[in-house]
Amino acid sequence: MFICNNCLRFLRTSKNIRVVWKTTSFNHFRRSENSTIQVRPNRSFSSSPTVLAKSGDEIDLSRFSPENIRNFSIIAHVDHGKSTLADRLLEVTGTIPKNAKNQQVLDTLQVEKERGITVKAQTASLFHTHKGQTYLLNLIDTPGHVDFNYEVSRSLEACQGVVLLVDANQGVQAQTMANFFLAFERNLTVIPCLNKIDLYNAKPEMVLEQLNNVFDIEPDDVLKISAKVGTGVEDLLTTIIEKIPPPQGDRDKPLKCLMFDSQYDQYRGAVGNVLVMDGSVKKGDKIMSLFSRKSYEVQGTGILHPHEKLVNVLFAGQVGFIHANIKRISDFQVGDTFCHQKSPVEPLPGFKPAVPMVFAGIFPSDQSQLPVLKAAINKLTLNDSSVSINIENSAAIGQGWRLGFLGMLHMDVFCQRLEQEFGASVVITAPNVHYKVRIKGKKNIKSYGDELVDVLNPCKLPPMSIIEEFLEPMITATIVIPDQYLISVLSLCHSRRGEPHEQTYIDQQRMVIRCTFPLNEVLVDFYDELKSITSGYASFDYEDNGYRPSELVKVEFLINKLPVEEMTLISHVSRARLRGKEICVRLKELIPRQMTYVTIQAIIGNDIIAREDIKPIKKDVLAKCYGGDVTRKNKLLNKQAEYLKKLKQVGTVKIPKDTFVNVLRKK
Ligand code: GDP
Ligand code: MG
Repeated sequence: MFICNNCLRFLRTSKNIRVVWKTTSFNHFRRSENSTIQVRPNRSFSSSPTVLAKSGDEIDLSRFSPENIRNFSIIAHVDHGKSTLADRLLEVTGTIPKNAKNQQVLDTLQVEKERGITVKAQTASLFHTHKGQTYLLNLIDTPGHVDFNYEVSRSLEACQGVVLLVDANQGVQAQTMANFFLAFERNLTVIPCLNKIDLYNAKPEMVLEQLNNVFDIEPDDVLKISAKVGTGVEDLLTTIIEKIPPPQGDRDKPLKCLMFDSQYDQYRGAVGNVLVMDGSVKKGDKIMSLFSRKSYEVQGTGILHPHEKLVNVLFAGQVGFIHANIKRISDFQVGDTFCHQKSPVEPLPGFKPAVPMVFAGIFPSDQSQLPVLKAAINKLTLNDSSVSINIENSAAIGQGWRLGFLGMLHMDVFCQRLEQEFGASVVITAPNVHYKVRIKGKKNIKSYGDELVDVLNPCKLPPMSIIEEFLEPMITATIVIPDQYLISVLSLCHSRRGEPHEQTYIDQQRMVIRCTFPLNEVLVDFYDELKSITSGYASFDYEDNGYRPSELVKVEFLINKLPVEEMTLISHVSRARLRGKEICVRLKELIPRQMTYVTIQAIIGNDIIAREDIKPIKKDVLAKCYGGDVTRKNKLLNKQAEYLKKLKQVGTVKIPKDTFVNVLRKK
């Protein structure tokens, strides 16, 4: 989402919108030991022992009324240093000991460590003494990638302010804008920070100019920090306390608490991350979910510091977790309001549901594992509520689900988490977008139940003869590039049926292009190609832009004359032949040679539009490899058998299970 200066001026003059950063600001894990808090001795910024009075094994937070609480998120483009800043804030406040090994400590998931990115918003409660007062600071480290935007938007509901980080070398990027405006729409106080000022090639002046041009932020209002080295981090803490308003809330009112995130715990059931808006909640309280109307007894309350620490009571304005032995996952809904059973309150508005962009069939590799995969998906969606779920049956693969994701990276990460955190092994079908078709003929409309039919799975497309019109999902993309790449980027946009409609300079050399695309054209490899033609300098973000009529056709694929339903795709007529050909060629590369000839065909209706053949393997291909040694031969045969087990059978042809997704990616 990009707003030029003119629009900003308009927004500022508009009566409904309070421009918080001008008026107020710039003068404005997971599980571990449930042990007691470690209070460090006399560091000027460490927690004061007296405020963290303990009752039994639990911390007493009763001294932290809303005036002494600040709830904020760190937001930025990917890799601009959010998680590194979180590390420094944890160290400076004495929450974790200072250590060179503290690198992105809040990225606790295996997938985050392996990929080096944050995919899950993570809360940490810190204590910091400023001018003799100790404050409870709740920070939320957020992901920067567009696919995890729902994490950011939900986190912001539990905050009154944000720290907006901008890399002093890379400057304002696509997700800087998207995340800034998420905070802006919610009237949150924004503390802009230039990060990585330690870098030799940092260009602070250029970035300050961009911040001024794009967001109208005055250069003097921008803090200059290095999250890596720690420069300016203590000043930032002071600014957070002085500029971000405390949460509103009254602990004498009846309990009203917002659950903004959740996860599943094997022993405790669902655990909710909550912001207590009013009242207080403690172990033994009878609370009621306003979503399920069911009541539960609270088994424990705590904060993340950054590991779990039990507290005896959570009071108004505080962020923490509660668990109440909720084992039925369907009763748990992110965005839910909890109250005391005997004091019902008005439910909070909750969250706008996420709008999934990409749909794919997910099936267990082995059908006997269906219940295991079902349980795994249900538990994981507690921690990732942006995934939509529909049951699906495939003639070739069996029973499974059609899941909706916010993007391809989100889909990859979700499937990796299913495997890593729940031991599920899955087959994923080719991803596609959510089309709609308008049906003609009263009789047909009656049998489909509506004139407009949703098509989440291309092989469930109604017959072409009864389709009046196709509607395809559109997006508006924000692309930030150095201007020397403008011509090649525009030509890439045109090749993907993009319609650029706005080009604005944000400094002397960098520009923002706004372009409308059919979502289907950018889904899989657009960003990779954009990065490659701009030597990695482009950034990309997009937002939903409704539906538009389009000329589409169904392309089907046959392997040895047998249809491979999972490969069916819907394409624009102008690109259908090319896509059919490209996919046949990719399939030829991805399907291992078999004992017999394999024919791959792409068809539209009854027309064959492309064909590729895979030659058979010669009979005793292993003969040359073992040279008469029987043990070696057996070893090779075992390896081959193991490999073949991992393949999916289509007729007599065996296909590796990731073929359906890989086939859509360029090499
Ligand atoms: P995130 O995606 O915004 O959470 O970014 P990370 O915190 O994961 O940081 C991305 C990369 O930038 C890591 O390699 C960090 O070490 C590096 N980084 C973060 N802050 C700084 C900084 O102030 N200076 C330098 N030189 N590197 C930094
Ligand atoms: Mg991060």
